[in-house]
Amino acid sequence: MASFQQTALSDQFGNSGAEKLNADRSSERQLPEFLSNLSSLETSDTIASMNRRIFLGVAAVIAGKAMSAQTSSSIPIIDTHIHLFDPRRPQGIPWPPKDDAILYRPALPERYRKLTEGLGVVGAIEVECSPWLEDNQWVLDVAAKDPIIVGTVGDLEPGKPDFRKQLERFHRNPLFRGIRYGNLWGRNLTEELAKPKFISGLKAVAEADLELDTANPDAALIAAVVRLTDRVPNLRVVIDHLPQFNPPTQGKARAEYEANLRELGKRPQVYVKISEVLRRVNGRVPQDVNFYRPRLDEIWDTFGENRLMYGSDWPNSDHIETYPQELTLVREYVLGKGRAAAEKVFWKNSIAAYRWIRRAISQPQLA
Ligand SMILES: [Zn+2]
Repeated sequence: MASFQQTALSDQFGNSGAEKLNADRSSERQLPEFLSNLSSLETSDTIASMNRRIFLGVAAVIAGKAMSAQTSSSIPIIDTHIHLFDPRRPQGIPWPPKDDAILYRPALPERYRKLTEGLGVVGAIEVECSPWLEDNQWVLDVAAKDPIIVGTVGDLEPGKPDFRKQLERFHRNPLFRGIRYGNLWGRNLTEELAKPKFISGLKAVAEADLELDTANPDAALIAAVVRLTDRVPNLRVVIDHLPQFNPPTQGKARAEYEANLRELGKRPQVYVKISEVLRRVNGRVPQDVNFYRPRLDEIWDTFGENRLMYGSDWPNSDHIETYPQELTLVREYVLGKGRAAAEKVFWKNSIAAYRWIRRAISQPQLA
């Protein structure tokens, strides 16, 4: 339906029409404004009556969609995976690269707020996207100014000599909820786990009641998380982007992956993000939830409704699909598991995993 709406509008009004629709689709609050623009367009002689009928039909569909979105979005959403950065800073940014035409512009709470308006998103956890030590502080400073950010997962290396000192420093700010380590910044969790200093660093994270996010799963990382939770069983671990990972399909590799995942499924301190769900297949992004269902079911059946959390991976997700479109698909899948389960995935489990800080009345609390 979205592609039909977009096509219909771009055909008649050019790209700006499609952009306008995209903006409005993300927001029920903007809808009346859209509809009033629509009526002024309607009275204009520049539009043929047939075009008007199509346009109004599209508007009715949008209005209907917005209403149904409002009904289901009465479940508040904590988005557990967004990134913040600002390429205009004098020191620049390590990511995204300048040649990334989609991502290389400020990703700040204000833009996120506008983008998610009317979608039920009441808070977000920022996840590091920079290995520069002082960027932990930069994110905390940005987050301090906007209560939509309920926590941040920073970047510190547990094997480094000054790790404990830095952990203490940032942990003084209650928005600092954990660190991320895994397949990025040239790091290797499997290798680090062999080093006593790294393990004692992770123990310090657990003792501080903070969590560890892993980055970009593959079979080796899943195996490493089993060993990590053997060594530091009281550390809460959040595996990100599992839906995006293509597990081995056969042989010993498949058997090992399945055994490791099953083992993690038994460990209540291990959480998994339902993030990076949508993917491009042969140049297009399937919009039917059934395309993604087998992979999501495998994760759901392994970890269950108490251990899964929604994350958008915004703005990285813009490479694949618009925020509202991604959320709509994930919500369709999760709501299929019942309302109680959806409440857990969209906010309750994020409190258990992150112990994030409530900063606005709209942000729900466990009874
Ligand atoms: Zn990401």
